[in-house]
Amino acid sequence: MKKVPSFQRLNILINLWVTVLLIAVILNGTQGQVYAGEKGDGYVILVRCADPRINDACMQLLNPEEQAAVISNTGSIKYFLLEDKLPDLYEQVRLLVHKFGVKKLILTNHTHCGFYKRLSLGNEAELADLRAVKRKLFGTFPEVEIKSYLIDTETSISVPVE
Ligand SMILES: [Zn+2]
Repeated sequence: MKKVPSFQRLNILINLWVTVLLIAVILNGTQGQVYAGEKGDGYVILVRCADPRINDACMQLLNPEEQAAVISNTGSIKYFLLEDKLPDLYEQVRLLVHKFGVKKLILTNHTHCGFYKRLSLGNEAELADLRAVKRKLFGTFPEVEIKSYLIDTETSISVPVE
């Protein structure tokens, strides 16, 4: 056998490692997809305000096996209600339902929301918006279970809104 210069051996070794790594990454990725596909029921759409004070409360609204596709705006659903941007929300929900087979959607508003305050609105408006948007979404996506909650920003306790 011809003697291979040491830098070439190093090159071959590096190439081999890169190949092994790539195969590992590809296999891992594929397994991840299959895994997620089998657990398609675990995908949930969560509509929330971007306010970081409700991060914990939002996490608590999910079951351990649920993966959230988060639609986050300043003002949560109020963002879509102003200037009639609801079709925007429908389009995002439609895409996520189609792509991930989402069967559950969680709508949230939270107390002391700066967005509502700026509009001189309080909890009553937040509740009314939750009810109205829930009804509209249910009319548009009858196959999706829709839950809605008002989150207490100070205690992180969420109250279901029917
Ligand atoms: Zn807010």
